[in-house]
Amino acid sequence: MREKILEELLKSNTKLVAVSKTKPIAQLKEKYDQGQRIFGENRVQELVEKEAALPKDIEWHMIGHLQSNKVKYIAPFISLIHSVDSFKLLTEVNKQALKNNRIIDVLLQFHIGEEESKFGLTLAKATELLESESFQKLENIQVVGVMGMATFTSDNQQVRNEFKSLKRIFEQLKEQFFRDQDSFKEISMGMSGDYKIACEEGSTMVRIGSLLFGSR
Ligand SMILES: *Cc1c(COP(=O)(O)O)cnc(C)c1O
Repeated sequence: MREKILEELLKSNTKLVAVSKTKPIAQLKEKYDQGQRIFGENRVQELVEKEAALPKDIEWHMIGHLQSNKVKYIAPFISLIHSVDSFKLLTEVNKQALKNNRIIDVLLQFHIGEEESKFGLTLAKATELLESESFQKLENIQVVGVMGMATFTSDNQQVRNEFKSLKRIFEQLKEQFFRDQDSFKEISMGMSGDYKIACEEGSTMVRIGSLLFGSR
């Protein structure tokens, strides 16, 4: 399965984040042995346990909602946080990154689906955040792109439109705030059910769980 997905991702030059939440360490090791190096998790405690148990050349991504008071546990090793959606969280990531003497890469999460969700920024909110003076002072975080989740629906056109809207948000932010920063280049969109559409719409990173590991 992984080979088949990778073959499809090759066409659009998209990276595969293997979403291993709830799966036992042995299953991650199996994928690691097949060559997988990027794993995504959505719970801090599980992430910390798996990081300790598995090889050090794995890139760990936090893809789920993150509470500020838990950032400290993942700050020493996390490669990318996909789910930053508030200034408060961004400030805490910066603080913990500084303590660990590193710069932590983050994505801004946007609310693009129609489901009611507490999580995810609007373009207006993100613009306000990026324009603020307090944001300019955060030296230990680097915003490298955007993330979003499409509505869970069989209406492919709707899913496609939502991915298009995330791509537009990315382009607008790139133009307005990151024109000179080559590091701002990631669009994290696409899961097991919709990754093909996401790739067609410009995804640089898909987050795939059940298709790789079986249903949860
Ligand atoms: C669980 C999860 C995924 C993977 O979902 P699948 O449908 O199993 O591929 C992707 N992104 C986020 C944010 C998730 O929580």
